[in-house]
Amino acid sequence: MPFVRDLLADAARRAADYLERLDSRPVGPLPGATERLVAALDQPLPEMGSDAVDILAVLDDLASPATVASAGGRYFGFVTGGALPAALAANILAGAWDQNSFGWASSPAVAAIEDAALRWVKEALGLPPASEGALVTGATMAHFTCLAAARNRVLKEAGWNVDADGLFGAPEITVVVGAEAHATLFKVLSMLGLGRRRVLTLPVDAEGRILPDNLPQIAGPTIVCLQAGNVNSGAFDPAEPLIAWARQGGAWVHVDGAFGIWALASAQKAPLARGYTAADSWAFDAHKWLNVPYDSGIALVADRSALTDAMSLTGAYLMAGDRRDAMAVTPDSSRRARAVEVWAALKSLGRRGLAELVERHCRQARRLAEGLRQAGIAVLNDVVLNQVVVGFGSDARTHAVIATIQDDGTCWCGGTVWHGVAAMRISVSSWATTDDDIERSLAAILKADRDTPST
Ligand SMILES: *Cc1c(COP(=O)(O)O)cnc(C)c1O
Repeated sequence: MPFVRDLLADAARRAADYLERLDSRPVGPLPGATERLVAALDQPLPEMGSDAVDILAVLDDLASPATVASAGGRYFGFVTGGALPAALAANILAGAWDQNSFGWASSPAVAAIEDAALRWVKEALGLPPASEGALVTGATMAHFTCLAAARNRVLKEAGWNVDADGLFGAPEITVVVGAEAHATLFKVLSMLGLGRRRVLTLPVDAEGRILPDNLPQIAGPTIVCLQAGNVNSGAFDPAEPLIAWARQGGAWVHVDGAFGIWALASAQKAPLARGYTAADSWAFDAHKWLNVPYDSGIALVADRSALTDAMSLTGAYLMAGDRRDAMAVTPDSSRRARAVEVWAALKSLGRRGLAELVERHCRQARRLAEGLRQAGIAVLNDVVLNQVVVGFGSDARTHAVIATIQDDGTCWCGGTVWHGVAAMRISVSSWATTDDDIERSLAAILKADRDTPST
């Protein structure tokens, strides 16, 4: 198929050109690019098809300039990691494979790689080897997967079969969250029929960590949700006292570790996440700190049967032999081969490279915080991980500085709300971020601050 070979070579060339150009272009979309793309897309479905080479050219010419350069080294929004070269290349090859990755029957290759990838993830984080995993789209669906298992299990212990009988007439479940729980958790509680509002909310300290004193009495079906890595401050709920308390009440402990759980991969940072390995379920992302292409999240459940009870297709699915079929442990049936990228990323980093990646980002975040403080700018959090929360005075001035930074295009930082006031959040989470990127970004932020009048 010489035509396909030429086409894929063209795609690879364009992709490499795109990545090489990231360093010299603004991080946001190029001026006018989004408008041009929207106008060009405003066409009815064509009667006749087009040539694939031309389609690629149109995408590259019109859409590449309208992208956000989040694959580059100076994008600090939304804890968005880049894509490690090995993971990107694996993604391209797996795209050619086009495997339906629901199990051994549909793709022995991906099923085998998925087993290996999950084993490595558990090894990297020191999570229980017997825990069962699901590769899903992100932390949101990982929450969904874990909390479905939790819901079914705590109700089973109360004598209720939610799988067969649903939630009508079921015993009530107490869901405990911290006051700084991530928004996606509430969306998932609503999707699972547990309700966004009917949670027991525990107070937090200034960094967003649940206060482990004066904890309420818990009894009956209960799910306690802890957070390893606050999306603003990067702070961790203190797992040791909280899990001890949850265990006394017989609760299921679920962890939102979207990016923070990767601290366990570094001896330097693991103390932040002390105790988290004793939870019942963990939801986290691979597309954030592990730097694989979107989309990629991981759900792990310590008790395998709790996951298979909740996710099997037939209610009581028995796996053929001891082989793990993904569709018996995930909400999806047909799905793409996420495992290939996760495996490639871990293979390319190794234990050392992963620890080094986490530690480098934490060091770079500290450097940014130090540079900002030296210039008299308020760093609002204790920079324990890769997150820096910054204030520039009033809400209006903070918004103005963020807009100036985004317009300037040297780096990209987004806004957030921290303790009720507007703030800027910097998340250092891309493999591509060099120390030079940090210095260039710091200079751009300091300049935006200087150029913004005080209000
Ligand atoms: C990003 C994030 C999520 C949601 O993850 P998605 O991959 O976007 O679904 C949940 N919790 C925390 C703490 C996060 O940072």
